[in-house]
Formats: sequence, C-alpha cells, structure tokens
Amino acid sequence: MELSFDFHSPVEPLKFNLFEKYNLTVHIKRDDMIHPFISGNKWRKLKYTLLDAKKENKTHLVTFGGAWSNHLLATAAAAAKFGFTSTAYVRGESVENQNLNLCKLFGMELKFVSRENYRNKENIFNKYHRQDSTTYFINEGGASVHALKGCVEIIDELPFAYDHIFTACGTGTTLAGLAIGVKNNRLHTRLNGVPVLANGAFLYEDINRLDNTIKDVMLHTDYHFGGYAKTKPALLTFIKHFVSKTGILIEPVYTGKMLFCLFDLIEKKYFPPNSSILVLHTGGMTGILGKLDSFGFNH
Ligand SMILES: *Cc1c(COP(=O)(O)O)cnc(C)c1O
Repeated sequence: MELSFDFHSPVEPLKFNLFEKYNLTVHIKRDDMIHPFISGNKWRKLKYTLLDAKKENKTHLVTFGGAWSNHLLATAAAAAKFGFTSTAYVRGESVENQNLNLCKLFGMELKFVSRENYRNKENIFNKYHRQDSTTYFINEGGASVHALKGCVEIIDELPFAYDHIFTACGTGTTLAGLAIGVKNNRLHTRLNGVPVLANGAFLYEDINRLDNTIKDVMLHTDYHFGGYAKTKPALLTFIKHFVSKTGILIEPVYTGKMLFCLFDLIEKKYFPPNSSILVLHTGGMTGILGKLDSFGFNH
C-alpha cells in the first residue's frame, strides 16, 4: 500500500565564516520542505502509522497533544489529505490559538481535557472510542514503532556518510530512528541529540527502551534554555542571525536550540578539522506563530 506522497527532502550546504574558520562542512537536510503543515519529522512519524491504519481499515484518527503541538497540526492535515477523519484531545483548559484554528480548518475535532485526565490517554481512548472499530489510536507526539520506522528512512536518503548528525529531541524517537538507520547502513556517523526539555539525560533510557541495541548517541543536555518552549534573549538573537543569513526559517522551540548548540560546540572546538556535519531541520515552523511576540520587533 502507498500513500501517494513521497518526497525526498533536499540537502543544502550552510555557509558561515565560523565553519570556514574551523574547516568544517555543514549541511542541512530540509525535512521542513516535506509539507508546510505535515511537517518534518512529524511526517516521518506518521507515514507508517497511517499505512498501518489503512491496513486495519481504520477511518478515524484519534490523537493527543498540547495546544501548540506540531503533531496535532500534522495529524489534522495528514488526515484530511489521506481520507481520514480526526479527533484530538488537547491538554488543559479550552483555549484558542492559530495552531488549533489550523487544525480545525483541516477538519479536526478538538476536545479539551484537564491535565489530570490527559495523563491517561489509553483511558480516554477506551472510554470514548473503544466501541468504534473504525478509530485508530495515535499517541502524543506520534510516538510508536511505526514512527521509528519512518525516521530510519531519513538515513537511507542521505547522499553521503557524514561524521556527525544533529537533531533536536523531544521524545527522542527521531534520534532513535536515525541511530537505527546508521546501524543498518553500517555507518560510522556519530549521532547528536539536543534535548529541548530540561534534564534531558533521561532520554538515554527512553531511547534505549525504543531499541536496546542503540549505543552510540550523544545528548547535549545544556541547550534547553530553561525547558520546553522556554527561551532566552541569546537564543532569539541567534535565530535572527541564522534566519537573516540563510533564508531558512527556524524557531525557538526545537530547531533554534539545536543549531545554537551546534554553533556553540564549534566555538568550543568540539569537532576536529575537516569534519562533515549534517543537521536535520525537523520542521515545525508554525510553532513560531506563538513565539513571534517574544522577538520584540515592536520595540
Ligand atoms: C516534535 C518535534 C521534534 C521532536 O521529535 P522527537 O522525535 O519527539 O524527539 C523536533 N523538532 C520538531 C520541529 C518537532 O516538531
């Protein structure tokens, strides 16, 4: 079965004096270009999930997320594109924002649940959807074995065996998929994850739980800027610099932190000269809509 949508995202060089100074080549894989709303790694994580849903003759996707979740929007858009209906349980009290309005535009039904009830997603699904055999459960963030399989394909698409690959980490699923891809292809690429949550070292265990043969990943845990969706002036300044010099949009929740980390490590002479580095643009550009005010352009 196919979903009649197959897009190999391009790899582009990044040019900065800093890279030249330390003799490094840096490329960016533009998974943000896969689709404006079925964005980046959220498409990678949905692809085999949706194929599984089709195989099981499911027609209604049920999923979970916060009000600014890239996964909710990706699921809403993918559901519309591939002929599913969709419902999302949104964490916390009822709110309105651009992300949720886009979800609604794609036909997604939204139900707000208290933070306490939200914790038990299986419970919510069983209570409201178990009787209906056409519904298909997709976990928060899209995390599943199917999601892992989709992320492995990122490595299969690469033209070149890089010394290092960098990605931002939420659940670590994308990083784990990359690690499996590196192993399957017998590459010597070192994988670097940048957790966007505080105390991100817990991801070593989570990644191991996803696949216990994964060993060689490095988590850079000091680039969370205070925690999930938290930001600091230095991060915003860096993002302005990066975007204005490249024409590639990044945002403060995921890709901004990952690239800040890369630039900082380069300045700290982390990489030997002549290293080749690939950063993964995991997309999520609508996330910036909720953050534009923090740049302070009105002052
Ligand atoms: C969800 C998301 C991530 C985190 O992916 P995980 O697989 O959960 O680690 C990274 N970047 C962007 C832009 C995302 O939307």
